[in-house]
Amino acid sequence: MTAVLIRGGAPYGEAPLDLLLDGGVIVATGGEATADERSVDAEIVDATGLVVLPGLVDLHTHLREPGREDAETVETGSAAAALGGYTAVFAMPNTDPTADTAGVVEQVYRLGRDVGLVDVFPIGAVTVGRKGERLAELAAMANSAARVRVFSDDGDCVSDALLMRRALEYVKAFGGVIAQHAQEPRLTQGAQMHEGEVSARLGLTGWPAVAEEAIIARDCLLTDHVGSRLHVCHLSTAGSVDVLAAAKVRGTAVTAEVTPHHLLLTDERAVGYDPVFKVNPPLRTAADVTALRQALADGVIDIVATDHAPHASQDKETEWDNASPGMLGLQTALSVVIETMLLPGLLDWRGVARVMSEAPARIGGLVEHGRPVAAGEPANLVLIDPTARWTVSGASLASLSANTPFEGMELPGRVVATYLRGRRTVSAGALAGV
Ligand SMILES: [Zn+2]
Repeated sequence: MTAVLIRGGAPYGEAPLDLLLDGGVIVATGGEATADERSVDAEIVDATGLVVLPGLVDLHTHLREPGREDAETVETGSAAAALGGYTAVFAMPNTDPTADTAGVVEQVYRLGRDVGLVDVFPIGAVTVGRKGERLAELAAMANSAARVRVFSDDGDCVSDALLMRRALEYVKAFGGVIAQHAQEPRLTQGAQMHEGEVSARLGLTGWPAVAEEAIIARDCLLTDHVGSRLHVCHLSTAGSVDVLAAAKVRGTAVTAEVTPHHLLLTDERAVGYDPVFKVNPPLRTAADVTALRQALADGVIDIVATDHAPHASQDKETEWDNASPGMLGLQTALSVVIETMLLPGLLDWRGVARVMSEAPARIGGLVEHGRPVAAGEPANLVLIDPTARWTVSGASLASLSANTPFEGMELPGRVVATYLRGRRTVSAGALAGV
């Protein structure tokens, strides 16, 4: 592999700085990059006007393989991720079979390696079959080739308090974290959308905010009691922000994510009963959206995670009540964060790097991702055209499924190139031939 000299790009949107990549590493920057003898034969990439960030890291992706290869595969999901500027994704275990053994997580890990577009890190199920009855083989998954550090029954809540306590105790031994899908099941039986004025108007069964907030409060207390580490998936309400903020003040070892769709869309989208807007947890109110944006800006919410959830058309394009909840996210996440956080001045580019790369890598225990754009660091990078605008079309996304809630919307910012360990996975906004 020849060296690559990226010229004129602006790390974190700050002063332009040339970057010389070789052997998977940023070997030199600035004047030292152009003076380095390895730059003589290097491939030159003109990055004038582009922002350079560390490759993005998604802590919450559904790749659907094994079991639902009609909706997504590791290959198509990896392509969507690379095109979205990601160099690493964490794959949720709600596959068929469930990723609850060393064998299945190793299978997903190896599929990711074989595709080679992003690093795929499997998340292990907390309970066998995600049934919430008994703990899965957490240590076996942690000790497997996939070295699992994040465990979740996502899609379902670990609602049994004793099981949750045991899981938190168990992962302490190897520095793991439990990622909780916070949804009190009895309070959300048959729920179809956010419980509020719109659900009353539409006559759809409501999913009350308190069903999320109560679980987060309980789990923060359990985490304190056990002395373990908790991560809250797709936090969606203003009340959850309050619970989280209080726990952090107290010193609870808790982190939390928000999805791009919860930063932009509200429950008003359900008017019209288009199931593309059905998601779990549901889209909330405008006041919730405002609180989530502010919490992400303040650092109360740590990261943006996509909850990329591809669904085959027969599961999604049906009447609202029967449609599967979930939305695509990998190729639109960065643009939605630019729209909702960067352009309004809530985050600068360093902040975007923090919430979409550095902090998710840290929570997931990765040491080669989410690193600074600096000499000696791994060459996992994304080059972004901050002035470009594009119109979202589900049919033209790399995902096997097309269920984007942003269909037809014009969004800012475009991924021009992505580098994984110095190798280009995306070039000129398209998959590089790798
Ligand atoms: Zn979930």
